Amino acid sequence: MPHFLHKLWNDLIGVLLPRTCAVCGRALSPMERVCCTTCTIEIPLTNYKAQAGNPIERIFWGKIPIVSANAFMHYQPHTAYARIITQLKYNNRPDYGIYIGRLMADDLIDTDFFKNIDCIIPIPLAKSRQKSRGYNQSEYIAKGIQKIVNIPIETSHVIRTKANKKQTQTHKLLRQENVKGIFALSQKCIQESQASPLDILIPSQVKNQKVKSHPLENKHILLIDDIFTTGQTLLSCSQVLAKIPGIQISILCAGVAGHQHSGPPITQRGTIEIIGTKISQPPNLQPSNFQPL
Ligand SMILES: [Zn+2]
Repeated sequence: MPHFLHKLWNDLIGVLLPRTCAVCGRALSPMERVCCTTCTIEIPLTNYKAQAGNPIERIFWGKIPIVSANAFMHYQPHTAYARIITQLKYNNRPDYGIYIGRLMADDLIDTDFFKNIDCIIPIPLAKSRQKSRGYNQSEYIAKGIQKIVNIPIETSHVIRTKANKKQTQTHKLLRQENVKGIFALSQKCIQESQASPLDILIPSQVKNQKVKSHPLENKHILLIDDIFTTGQTLLSCSQVLAKIPGIQISILCAGVAGHQHSGPPITQRGTIEIIGTKISQPPNLQPSNFQPL
């Protein structure tokens, strides 16, 4: 179904049907967004924030100028909590990204995680994929984070040059190759600028010579992604950004795959939810089809 028809269908469903919890399917109160209070409290958190050198950070040690890395919750495909991410990615629910982003920022607000971060950069999608999806899900997660920490979001500095095969559909031994060279710095952000006003200190032969600079030079950036699987996509993007002099990188993901704590499996659903497979039919969201899990 074309994207605009899919969106129209969802908008219609949203008007006609009561809002329900993305995880358990119960009706939401007017004060609740996306998930009911119980399901929000029971989100399977990683609690990596309390661990210096947590498993996510270790992936990047020695490879990029990493400051901190964290994943908010455990993620297991085909479980009730995975539905937040599948709806965000494959069913035109960017508001789910804002919801999870706010929770991610709230979870870290009492730590030093956001300290000295200059800007947030969502992992970019390839143009073709963003066009078919209608939005970049990581950008909406970033918007949710921004609502709590008020750090600017930058989307123009790094681009995805091609749509690689989805990592979840790639054998783990081939994932590094799958993402090799898929990111690049945006050339329009690499500025030609005059040498500094202190050029009196610069040897005469280079005086007035134009030098290349980058707005992210010496900045601390926060890279956002939805699900951390092997980290190869984030590493590939970070290595491109690491070419900028003085840059420091922190990483934050909504979920980390490969753990067994993401809630019960989905047993009865009207919606087909397979990671890496775009839902081609409007989901059946009628409350009568929800079976509390
Ligand atoms: Zn619920």
